[in-house]
Amino acid sequence: MPGILIKPNIEKKLDILAASAQHDVCLASCNSNPSGGRGRIRHPAAPESRWIYPAHIPGKGMVHILKVLQTNLCENKCSYCSIAANRDSSTRTGFGPEELARAFMKLVECRLVHGIFISSGMGLNFESVMDRIIQTAEILRLRYHFDGYIHLKILPGVSLAHIERAAALADRISINCEAPTREHLDKIAPNKRLAQDIITRMKWAGSIIQHGARAKSQTTQFVVGAGNETDLEILKTVDWIYRELFVYRSYFSAYQSEQAKNTFGLLREHRLYQTDFLLRGYGFRLGDLVFDSDGKLPLSVDPKQAYARMHPELYPVDINKASLDLLLKVPGIGPVSAYRIMTLRKEQAFTCVEDLKETGAIVSRAGPYIEFSGRKDRMSYYIQGYLFEQDPEKGWQTGCEPYQAYKINKADTLYDYPGQKGKPLNYCEKGKPVYCK
Ligand code: SF4
Repeated sequence: MPGILIKPNIEKKLDILAASAQHDVCLASCNSNPSGGRGRIRHPAAPESRWIYPAHIPGKGMVHILKVLQTNLCENKCSYCSIAANRDSSTRTGFGPEELARAFMKLVECRLVHGIFISSGMGLNFESVMDRIIQTAEILRLRYHFDGYIHLKILPGVSLAHIERAAALADRISINCEAPTREHLDKIAPNKRLAQDIITRMKWAGSIIQHGARAKSQTTQFVVGAGNETDLEILKTVDWIYRELFVYRSYFSAYQSEQAKNTFGLLREHRLYQTDFLLRGYGFRLGDLVFDSDGKLPLSVDPKQAYARMHPELYPVDINKASLDLLLKVPGIGPVSAYRIMTLRKEQAFTCVEDLKETGAIVSRAGPYIEFSGRKDRMSYYIQGYLFEQDPEKGWQTGCEPYQAYKINKADTLYDYPGQKGKPLNYCEKGKPVYCK
């Protein structure tokens, strides 16, 4: 059993406990930079910034938060966890509530942070660790009158009273599912019981939030790739907890073992995030999603384009007539641009893809799937400085003149273009790229 082997000063503790917290994904963009410390800020003039993450908080925009563990001591041996009991125990430490609250308020006073996310290992007694997490939040709210963002992790198996108190103090609470089924959780976290320790607590949290608490939402997290689970299994559970447990959103963390540090896991994580957006904000249902026979999402194409390719009967969608539901099925059109399209077309009909730019739609993606009052626009794309055109009659063509005025979206890749059909780019005798027709 690991023990507290060192009693470092506060700065050292922050170094250890903020580093240990980095794989706990709590907010959008907390893990936006998989290299170099998963999105941490590094400001040369403020060394404390190494503990701080940018995060998007609904209604508040992008803010900086301290992400930290109350303790990295844990008796469990979850296979995916960097602080499991069987991992290196030379840097086990923990904060007392006073200590953590004071350290955080110093960062607030220096205007380095506007919020805090407190997670934790289970310690030697998980209920007393949960007490310490709550006491930290109480000191912040009641003694320091801190009114900024607090996100508290709910440890599996804690009491209803713990969850009620956490929800009264925090703006958000979260309980990690980790795996989509009991069988998968047994493989990676044999000490956790999915139904009793996690799902029941999520149900309580959902009910507390619905009946009015300071916390307006609960979230959860899945470890991806540690238990041989499929994307379909993860998304079935995600879909269920959204409908039944009042969960606001899910986070996905690609399992990166020492042996398997690969980009495949990160791309899979990215596809799960894209699919999750479709379920939460685009009106997609689980049955709309495209999986292969092994229950995997396609990696070579984003999930909305995979849907569009499976349903050619729906396209082209008429920008001037389509329902909101159908607009949201068009690659490159999100909820904001769909609402803008519906508002602007009341004043004047859209006539070409150029008109769409003011709505925020990614026209290079949307182009092949839309028409304007029954007429398809001629589409032009510039990839790597070269012009590609789609003629409604002839299909994809190759252009040979570099065209500098058009700035392509960085996220666009060759795989995103239907004419490419996933084939590698070829070059003509002039050294110009040739698109497959
Ligand atoms: S219970 Fe939590 S902190 Fe402990 S080993 Fe498992 S994931 Fe890590």
